[in-house]
Amino acid sequence: MEPRRKILMVAPEMAPFVKVGGLGDVVGALSKALDARGHDVRIVMPKYAGLCHVDSARPRNRPLRVRLGGHELYARLWDCELPGSGANCYLLEFNQYYEHAAVYVGPSGNEEHNGQRFAFLCRAAVDLCYYLDWIPDVVHCHDWATGLTPIYLNTTELNQPMGRAASLMTLHNMHHQGWFHRDLVDFAGLPPSVFRSDCLESMGEVNMLKGGVYHSTKINTVSPTHAREIQEPEGGGGLHHVLRYRAADLLGVINGVDGSEWNPATDALLPATYSANDLNGKALCKAQMQQTYGLEVNADIPVFAVISRLAEQKGLDLLAAIGDRLMASMKIQIAVLGIGDPELESAFRVLAARHPGRFGTHIGFNNKLAHLTEAGADFFLMPSRFEPCGLNQMYSMIYGTPPIVRATGGLIDSVEQYIEGQGAGTGFVFQDATPDALYYTIGWACSTYYDRPEEYAKLQQNGMQRDFSWDASASTYEDLYSWAVDARNAAFASKIS
Ligand code: ADP
Repeated sequence: MEPRRKILMVAPEMAPFVKVGGLGDVVGALSKALDARGHDVRIVMPKYAGLCHVDSARPRNRPLRVRLGGHELYARLWDCELPGSGANCYLLEFNQYYEHAAVYVGPSGNEEHNGQRFAFLCRAAVDLCYYLDWIPDVVHCHDWATGLTPIYLNTTELNQPMGRAASLMTLHNMHHQGWFHRDLVDFAGLPPSVFRSDCLESMGEVNMLKGGVYHSTKINTVSPTHAREIQEPEGGGGLHHVLRYRAADLLGVINGVDGSEWNPATDALLPATYSANDLNGKALCKAQMQQTYGLEVNADIPVFAVISRLAEQKGLDLLAAIGDRLMASMKIQIAVLGIGDPELESAFRVLAARHPGRFGTHIGFNNKLAHLTEAGADFFLMPSRFEPCGLNQMYSMIYGTPPIVRATGGLIDSVEQYIEGQGAGTGFVFQDATPDALYYTIGWACSTYYDRPEEYAKLQQNGMQRDFSWDASASTYEDLYSWAVDARNAAFASKIS
């Protein structure tokens, strides 16, 4: 039995309040799972405009003093609970930085002020603990936006109560690292000595993620395969040497799925629920989905779906490149839900206009439609160039929608290759990030659907029976916390002796 831990999550986003990508899902779901396992979990994050599910939040009378370099700023602090759990959330109201709804875009409409916006979050997380008179065992940080917090613990706080707290940095996406002008060190109130190449400095600038990786007691990323990938030049986004240096403190832990959000048997966002024993409701979802995307409503034609940020990482340019070819050679439908790169948005709009009733595109971020799409589709497409963990492939397996994925990161760790003739596996895995590899794999899936329906049904069942719940991962995070706490205690003991 693990000891009851005091855990502070420091997060730039968290579902269901606000979510840009998987990081938000993970912070919300992991916090819930840890709370359910008896830990004292608290979360601190900015109070951006337009947060959802915060109607019950109450402001505190006493403001939070945030001690940055040479100046103090005061935030208004709001308390609320993470829905579906007893975990306390502390929302930082500070209009100069967070009065807009966008998470990673500052008041000027670009990312220029993000250094200050997130240095503020990093410092506020530390000052909040003194304010609450609550010293956590572990401060759990998430990606570059929280990278300065472990540095505070090792510098300004080292001889203060917060210096005893261990830190864990979870790397969700190495692609974003938080590069800023070196002035940020002064602004943040960090000692000038942290601006060196084995801490925050990188090519003459501040790299917040790099500093966080150097200073966290322990580090993890969101799948075992990705933990290996980020130690290689192709996967480490320029920080592979730092991660190799810290390899002994690095672990890969696959994400789980929040079953209260993503479960076809209870999903309130679907027109009909269903389960592995009775898939009837899925047919209804398919019909409604086809209608919503402007596709021909036809139960017999397989629908291949995408739900994604439209970013280079996701490999959807490969799909755009073969859109016409697929439409010409296969009896399939395609539905794309996504937002991001304007060129890709317009490529998918053009494909929809060129193939009415067969290619549907919805540009936007729409959670309800995401649920309907997972449920209504027959296959899910995820041709990612890299994917630290990926959640949608797990959602799709749970929803009886076999995924087609590229062999990378968490996709390797969560999808089992289909074995033709046996109906074994949970999806289709291809190696090369090329239009041809995707094209032929979609062809393989299409022939499975039409020519081997009993094997397609088996694939669905195999995926639906897999356990993707957070329980196993939450228990590994408990081990990680113990590992970090022991290491922090040992470091202090050796300093004193
Ligand atoms: P990433 O974090 O790289 O964006 P993940 O697969 O880990 O990718 O998580 C993405 C999350 O965001 C999933 O919950 C997915 O359903 C959701 N999502 C992505 N794009 C959209 C969209 N356009 N509309 C609704 N949900 C989306």
